[in-house]
Amino acid sequence: MPYRLLTSLAVRLNGQLYVFDAGEAVQLGLKKARLGIRGLDVVAVSHLHADHCLGLPGLMMLRAQLNDPDPLTILGPPGIARFVSQVQESLGFYCGYPVHFREWSEDQGEIAYQDQQARIYWQPLKHSCFCLGYRLEELQRPGKFSPDRARALKVPCGPLWGMLQKGEWIHLDSGEKISPEQVLGPPRRGRSVAYVVDTRPCKGIYQLCHDANIAFLEGMFLPEHNEHADAKGHLTVEDAARISRRAGAGRAILVHISPRYGQEDLPLLEAAARERFAQAELGRDLEIYPVPLPED
Ligand SMILES: [Zn+2]
Ligand SMILES: [Zn+2]
Repeated sequence: MPYRLLTSLAVRLNGQLYVFDAGEAVQLGLKKARLGIRGLDVVAVSHLHADHCLGLPGLMMLRAQLNDPDPLTILGPPGIARFVSQVQESLGFYCGYPVHFREWSEDQGEIAYQDQQARIYWQPLKHSCFCLGYRLEELQRPGKFSPDRARALKVPCGPLWGMLQKGEWIHLDSGEKISPEQVLGPPRRGRSVAYVVDTRPCKGIYQLCHDANIAFLEGMFLPEHNEHADAKGHLTVEDAARISRRAGAGRAILVHISPRYGQEDLPLLEAAARERFAQAELGRDLEIYPVPLPED
């Protein structure tokens, strides 16, 4: 729409960028949001409908302009590799970095991707074609450092504290060895976000949104247009709000609103969602949603 971009979610975590879906002109959104694409090494595509994958070539070409880009991993449904290779071959565009594909299949398991700080899970959804939902989960963080315990063990305040905090063993001048477990609390759960679009209600959504800090879900239709949602394989705002509340999500941000609704209809969609879940709201283009570290 002239006033609404296609749906895409970028998750920024310590300088890394994880992008979910790449509709047409996704690179403009990234630029407008000033996210840059250095640090973007993974793109996860939900399904092979144009509004979710046509932006891949532009994104890949923009990335090729970086100085010495890292390899790119593309996650997606069966056929995503063929789609990208065909476009690449037809347009003859140069990439300059390796592209690895990981296509979903029955025997691949629930983990689509993992790096040193996060893990991406995937689950098949229920749409008019094969569609995947995703969940990005930060890996467990080390437990909370206790200065009192460190002092009691006669560890001098300074670099040794830092090493223990990072989970390393240290040696004291006395020759005594101290393990990180002696000064750290239990490991802390990482933060998580879910990304679920283009689906009817199904079990996979609950798995992806379970206790997520933020669930980004499609809010394609108003409840009174449920017959369209059913026919086209989408959620209504009411479905999305209800499912995220039941799944225990902290917040639900509803995205991928049908083009049949103008900007003036958005408050209606939001109100219908809030009736089911007080922590639901409509997503706005380029909005930033911080996920604070838990207090523990
Ligand atoms: Zn679709
Ligand atoms: Zn769609």
